[in-house]
Amino acid sequence: MLDTAQKLIRETAQKLGLDDKQIDELIAINAEHDFEIEMENGQKYQAYRMQHNNKLGPYKGGVRFHPQVDIDEVKALATLMSFKTAAVGLPLGGGKGGVVVNPKELTEAELEELSRKYVRGLHKHIGPDKDVPAPDVNTNAKIIDWMVDEFEQLTGDKTKASFTGKSINNGGSLGRNAATGRGGVIVLRELLAKNKKKTAITYAVQGFGNVGAFFAMVAQKEQPSWKLVAATDSSGGVYNPAGLSARALGRYKKVGGKLSAYQTGKSISNEELVGLEVDVLVLAALEDSVTKDNVEEVKAPVILELANGPVSYDAYKSLSKDKKIVIPDILANSGGVIVSYLEWVQNRSGEHWPEDKVNRELENYLVEATDQIYAYSQTYKMTLTEAAFAAAIKRLIS
Ligand code: NAD
Repeated sequence: MLDTAQKLIRETAQKLGLDDKQIDELIAINAEHDFEIEMENGQKYQAYRMQHNNKLGPYKGGVRFHPQVDIDEVKALATLMSFKTAAVGLPLGGGKGGVVVNPKELTEAELEELSRKYVRGLHKHIGPDKDVPAPDVNTNAKIIDWMVDEFEQLTGDKTKASFTGKSINNGGSLGRNAATGRGGVIVLRELLAKNKKKTAITYAVQGFGNVGAFFAMVAQKEQPSWKLVAATDSSGGVYNPAGLSARALGRYKKVGGKLSAYQTGKSISNEELVGLEVDVLVLAALEDSVTKDNVEEVKAPVILELANGPVSYDAYKSLSKDKKIVIPDILANSGGVIVSYLEWVQNRSGEHWPEDKVNRELENYLVEATDQIYAYSQTYKMTLTEAAFAAAIKRLIS
């Protein structure tokens, strides 16, 4: 993924006429923090925080707890965050953190100890004006609340603006859970209209988790002419050309159901989902789920990248050559960081906004960003991916 992100940045920057030195500066990570967390039971875990670029504002980005966290992945995600915040016009930079751990093997007390020690290792480098971490894979509001408390104890900061993704009673924002999926709906709606594509579409969702499920549930409510025909999770999934109810699937998942066992349709594998004849393929699971090995399978003319880096560089090139439209992650999934920013704004001003205000602000940011990125794609004859990176680069070098 690091390779994909850096190649896209380099290529777009060259098209914009930047020289090698400027490009190297855009790609370079500002600060790398890597340290070991030692638990009371003697167990040690490797921890990271990568701070890529803070030219536009404090570093911003999630912290993931996962056994496969590696330094290059954290660097790639930090880099993508800087370009994401810049592409949509937020006054924030990009960072990312992680701990190499399988949190499912920890007790609740150990998870709290790990979360607090992560903050102890980093507190001098983070804070409301320096770097504002958030939840990511396997981290959630409860973990962030522990981190905020630890940060408060260490620094005396009482604003709660040191982290976003907090629980609602602890300064979290309404609308955050749905924000990434909701943002995907807004971006897709705007681009379908601009490309004069038909508005009654069929779509399939790979990865019916937080992002994929909210995307489909918001679409069901607000875009009734969009028909969900297939959805998968890590177990596989279900296909029904007559249409599936996102809400019913969401309820089923909430009680622990596996989509491979969902009854009202034909079962389908993840590979089959990628090759379905639908108008829009929504990728909301993992990075690199479409690569050169399966890109030939893709039949959808539009691919919405809701996960981070779900289309590899080679696959993106091949899809673009076939005139398929890839809606890039740094625009398509930016709803999450936009509402994180709105949480930070609410904390700093001591306010707590109703959900419809949060959603209106999200809509404004995304309509404007989509407009600008689409305009760049037309003016510079670029793909939307290049145009999104171009919008970011212009802000980062100005
Ligand atoms: P999640 O864990 O809630 O959901 C992921 C879903 O993908 C799960 O349903 C899982 O079963 C499924 N999955 C895993 N492997 C799969 C496979 N091989 N095929 C099909 N499905 C598979 O995570 P999430 O928060 O929804 O995040 C999804 C993606 O979106 C990640 O790449 C994440 O980095 C990115 N993202 C999330 C947010 C956010 O606000 N949560 C913001 C921006 C980007």
